[in-house]
Amino acid sequence: MGQYGLSRSPVFKESGDIYETSPFGMRTLGGKTCKHYGVDVVRYVGYNTTATIVAIADGKVTAVKNTVTGVDHRRNLEGNFVTIDHGGGMVTKYFHLKHGSIPASIRVGTTVHKGDTIGYMGNTGDSYGAHLHFQLEQNGQAIDGAPYLRGQKTISTLESDLTVLQQCGVINSPAYWLQTAPKVQYLPELIHNMAVKLQ
Ligand SMILES: [Zn+2]
Repeated sequence: MGQYGLSRSPVFKESGDIYETSPFGMRTLGGKTCKHYGVDVVRYVGYNTTATIVAIADGKVTAVKNTVTGVDHRRNLEGNFVTIDHGGGMVTKYFHLKHGSIPASIRVGTTVHKGDTIGYMGNTGDSYGAHLHFQLEQNGQAIDGAPYLRGQKTISTLESDLTVLQQCGVINSPAYWLQTAPKVQYLPELIHNMAVKLQ
């Protein structure tokens, strides 16, 4: 059933046996200690490692690379990747994607929704077997993405915050506020703080 009994992760489209093969933080590889800025995660089905990688929350694509054909331990360390800006200072990065697997529709500026396919798990760049390096950044600093990979925490967006407010009866037209709030300074922040309190 995978590590911690995990058979699903919001970063994979399909269920399977899911293992975190290398955690966030300091690690020693080949006698060298350095910081690992992401969480490495693998989805197994029997002995096979295949997985469709999906956006973990709504956002906008800020970078795409799809030209790395295989393993490369010297240059192109991230391999093929997609990065997504979720607003509120939250960014996610998905490294080592399979060559040619990133859909043509995923380009810089593309709006993605939670669950949209952004590529396939692969073995490109500084990688020793198919896996996903999932990196979460808050205001430019890498933080531990594991609780998000396990579905214990979710990245909130203006849209998800408004859904909370609607469910609590604070507003009745999320679509209106989705249009209006970004135009008013501090309003998205106020909405977010309310949503956190109400959740
Ligand atoms: Zn990694």
